[in-house]
This record gives sequence, C-alpha cells and structure tokens, in this order.
Amino acid sequence: MQDQLSGLPVQQLLDRIHADLNADQAGEVADYIPELAAVDPDLFGIALVTLDGKVYQSGDSRHLFTIQSVSKPLTFGLALSEQGAATVERHVGVEPTGDAFNSISLEPHSGRPMNPMVNAGAIATTGLIKGATVTERFQRILECFSAYAGRPLTMNEAVYRSEKDTGHRNRAIAHLLRNFDMLTEDPEPDLDLYFRQCSVEVTCRDLAVIAATLANYGANPITGVEVIKLNDVEKLLSVMSSCGMYDYSGRWIYDVGLPAKSGVGGGIMAVLPGQFGLAVFSPRLDRWGNSVRGIQVCEALSRNFHLHMFRGLRSGSNVIRAKYDASMISSRRNRLPRIEKLLETHGNQTTVYELQGDLLIGTTEYVTREVIRAIDQSSTIVLDLRRVMEIDLAASQLSLIHI
Ligand code: GLU
Repeated sequence: MQDQLSGLPVQQLLDRIHADLNADQAGEVADYIPELAAVDPDLFGIALVTLDGKVYQSGDSRHLFTIQSVSKPLTFGLALSEQGAATVERHVGVEPTGDAFNSISLEPHSGRPMNPMVNAGAIATTGLIKGATVTERFQRILECFSAYAGRPLTMNEAVYRSEKDTGHRNRAIAHLLRNFDMLTEDPEPDLDLYFRQCSVEVTCRDLAVIAATLANYGANPITGVEVIKLNDVEKLLSVMSSCGMYDYSGRWIYDVGLPAKSGVGGGIMAVLPGQFGLAVFSPRLDRWGNSVRGIQVCEALSRNFHLHMFRGLRSGSNVIRAKYDASMISSRRNRLPRIEKLLETHGNQTTVYELQGDLLIGTTEYVTREVIRAIDQSSTIVLDLRRVMEIDLAASQLSLIHI
C-alpha cells in the first residue's frame, strides 16, 4: 500500500514539509521524568489518514512514544458515553482557562475544574470511568484507545512508574478535587488510572488514525468500528478547539483552525472534520508544551491548503445545478402521444430543480427560498436529487416546515 502511495501528491507534500523542517532544533524535550528526558530529540514523523482509510506517512511515523495529554479528549469521550453529558458536566466544565495545563485552578464556588483538557479536568474525567478495580477501568480505557487506533495498544511501564512516583502536583490536584466532591472516593485509584492513561504508547500513525476516526464522525476509517457516537464527537472536538493546545489554544485555532490536542510526549493530533486526520510526532516542545515542529507542520499545511475549518463553509447558491421547466426536457425515448400532449400544455408550469452536493441547513434554506418563490408560477415542482450526496436530518425538517 505504502509503495503505491509514494508517488501521490499528498505523499510528496508530506515528504517535502518533513524535509523542510527536519533541521529545525528549536525547543526542548520534556524532562520532568527521566524516560521523557532520554527521548531522541531529532525524531520526527508525520502521518495523514483519509476517511477511506488511506495512510500517508513520512519520517519516524512508526516510532512509539507516550500519548500523554492527547489521551485527555479520548477519555472525555469515553466518560460521556458511559455516564452521559449531564453527569460529566457536573464534574468538569468546558471553558478555556488561559492558564498552564497543570494549574491548580478550579471554578471559585463549585470547585469544578474548568475543562477536560487541563490536568484537573482530565483527572476528574478519568475518575468517572466505570469499573470495580483500577485494572478493570484501565482495561476499558485501553480498549477504547485501541479501537480508535485500530490495533491493540499497550502501556509503557517505566513511564507509568515515573509519572506515579513524581506526580506530586497531580496528586495535590486530585486531593483538591476530592475536597470539592469532583472525585467522590479515595483519589489515589483515580490518579493511578490517569497516570496509566498518559503512559499508553502510540505511534504518529496511530494518532493520525485516531484523528481520522474523529474526522469520520466516530467510526474508525480502517476497521469500520464505531468508537464514539456522533453527538459525543461534537463535544470532544469542541473542547479540543477551545482548549486542546494548552494556553496557546486561542492562537492555534485562529491561525490553524483545526481542533487538535497535543501532549508533552511530542505528539499532536489535528482533525479536519469530514476530511482527514493528521498527526505529527517531534519531541522538542515550546514553552507551552506543544511540539515545535508539530505546530509548524500543521501551520504549513493549513496555510497552503486553506484547511481552516471556517473556510470549509461555502455558500449554498451552487447547490442548484440547473433550473428549467418541463417543456424543455427532451428525451431519446419515444413518448406516448398522451404524455407528449400533457407536457405541451402543462410543461411550462412544471419547474425542475437539479440539485447537487450536500443538503445541509444552509444549502437547504437557499433551496426552500428559491422553491417558494417558484411556487407562484408553477403548478408542480420537481426536485431532481440524483446528484445529492447527503441530506441532513435537520435540513430535511426545514424543507418540511416551509413547503
Ligand atoms: N502526564 C503529564 C501530566 O499529567 C501529561 C502532561 C501533558 O502531556 O500535558 O503532568
């Protein structure tokens, strides 16, 4: 598969970006535990996975590293599916903090953590994962992450040990959460679970498949397995958009315009909904904790290919491919004289709209307005939907209301 893809434009593009940025040595690897400090800082991989499951990879895309904070949105999604949004939202908010990822800041009165992407919110979220023991609960997390990646993932034992031995700040946060009943029992098992989830090993390719699963509205594009429900994907991508890149999230969404999450292991995953998943692995981090080359790759791709998600929203006017009255329809088939006569007398009162593309709320609003205007002059309206790819449920309700 890879050989067949090597000559394709996207592959060449990733290789070119990789070559252009390869020499950049800006940033420092995370050094709060020895295992991360010892990582080869020059490692550099890029991967992009399309929604029909094509995998493009460049550089060290098969090298294992720990997922760290990229785990946070995934566990948030699992908590949403296990507990429902109302319970989850009682334990964690969805507001950006503007503070560092490990800041000890909770909402003043409730003690609720600000969002699931900072450590306080992530620990509270992990605390919601069901199961009788830590082992059982971790198994659920691991199965969930593995379904996203489309292969069985495992945990790096040494990283887990170090995280657990040195994670005093996270321990303080967890006990504070317990004080406000955001964790409802002994915080140590929840903390243990959080350290384990951060220590799961992935490759850059895995992260791109995970991102593509989110881009594909919850179904893994390679295995076809539905990992998360569409409603929850929406919530997860929202918090990634507003809080996914530490306290650089505002600038990120302004410049790059893709929901994303980074981790101190050097990984970044970014999602272009409905199009593809992208991941970069490069361990040198900037002062916010984001991979320096990771940001550069995403910026370059977004700039050159107009990937900003708000660019994807096009006007609805081209959804009407053609409009004519039925008297203008010619046919190679011989028509019955009766039909011929009918078309002759009534054809010009029948308006045909050939529609194309997706009927979403915006495009359907445009079509309904056009059709309502035509109703006065026509006795019959024909909507030719042969070239319509998708009809959004909400949009179909709109057309029912109006016509
Ligand atoms: N294990 C790290 C911590 O909780 C994760 C940090 C990160 O990737 O942001 O401190």
